[in-house]
Amino acid sequence: MSDTALLAAVAARRDALIALTQDLIRFPTLNPPGLQYLEICEYLADRLRAQGFTVEMIRAHGAIADSDTYPRWNMVARLERGPGECVHFNSHHDVVAVGHGWTRDPFGGELDGDRIYGRGACDMKGGLAASIIAAEAFIATHPDFNGAIEISATADEESGGYGGVAYLAEQGYFHPDRVQHVIIPEPLNKDRICLGHRGVWWAEIETHGRIAHGSMPFLGDCAVRHMGAVLAEMEASLFPLLATKRTDMPVVPEGAKQSTMNINAIHGGEPVQEADYTGLPAACVPDRCKITIDRRYLIEENEGEVRAEIIAVLEKVKAERPDFHYELNELWSVSPTMTDRNAPVVKTVEAAISKVLETQAEFVVSPGTYDQKHIDRIGTLKNCIAYGPGILDLAHQPDEWVGVQDMEDSAKVMALTLAELLL
Ligand SMILES: [Zn+2]
Repeated sequence: MSDTALLAAVAARRDALIALTQDLIRFPTLNPPGLQYLEICEYLADRLRAQGFTVEMIRAHGAIADSDTYPRWNMVARLERGPGECVHFNSHHDVVAVGHGWTRDPFGGELDGDRIYGRGACDMKGGLAASIIAAEAFIATHPDFNGAIEISATADEESGGYGGVAYLAEQGYFHPDRVQHVIIPEPLNKDRICLGHRGVWWAEIETHGRIAHGSMPFLGDCAVRHMGAVLAEMEASLFPLLATKRTDMPVVPEGAKQSTMNINAIHGGEPVQEADYTGLPAACVPDRCKITIDRRYLIEENEGEVRAEIIAVLEKVKAERPDFHYELNELWSVSPTMTDRNAPVVKTVEAAISKVLETQAEFVVSPGTYDQKHIDRIGTLKNCIAYGPGILDLAHQPDEWVGVQDMEDSAKVMALTLAELLL
């Protein structure tokens, strides 16, 4: 059986690909809070059982955010036809909040020209649909393949993946004895292979003061002014330092090829009142001020260095400023990860892109993390990439869409990848 027959089998499923994507978008799997996770998993389970897959429905009991009201359901489907290797496609089924500015029904799955619209269209129900169509076309044309195909739909990627891939990895689902190749069809564009992501370090910094009457601030100690000194020191020394740290990782977009830090939030003094509150504020010196920082770091850095830079800023301010007290509270961290360019799944997808699209694959690294972190660290599986249709910039935006031709092309790449690894 030639590549031509397999590619034709994918092309013949174009209408099925559209319908499947629309069906998936019509489940409003919003996270938070975690809606219709069971429903979408059951829908996928029915479809894949009809193809001969054995399906497991796995609830992440005890994981963050799992509750009887909002259970964290995952689906893993496996079709094994021989002792060969296993290729696993992992997609998250959750989507982020709709937000404002839509001109289309976010859960309508509307098809207009080459585009299908909806929350999650590109991130990443289009990729999930493409991987299923690729598998179905491959199974139909090569029923006696050697090895196993797995397709999973997992919860909570948009909130860290703890009720999804992290949970499955802890249960051994991504152990290299069981799975040899993982492709995550996140929307990185059909001609790009994403090797990994930068690291993350989140922390809160709190400055302390003393409350007093606002007419006599000299009797108190203003925590907001202390935080102002921290921010000024960050502007003077930390941000310029981060701009000098460049990476050899092929991170896109260009601006993310350096260390970055976002200040997510600042809170100090009296809380913001409800919009319908008509009173005046009270006259008080704020005794607490807090910021949340989101530091993204490079494979050339390590978490210890990142922490030490922040402590250096705080200690410098402390040395210069009377009565300065702070607390540093670390919230979350993820190490950077990058799969080797010569790993088998990378080489195979690279060759398939060149056949289907007649172009050289571009290698990229994501500025933010995704579920590869859990497959790498908990699952200990290194042979993993993100590859899928859709334009990353459209993710989480109003009027999110995915292109039908892009989905078909990337389904062809995925199908050829299966043929290369399982025949
Ligand atoms: Zn995603």
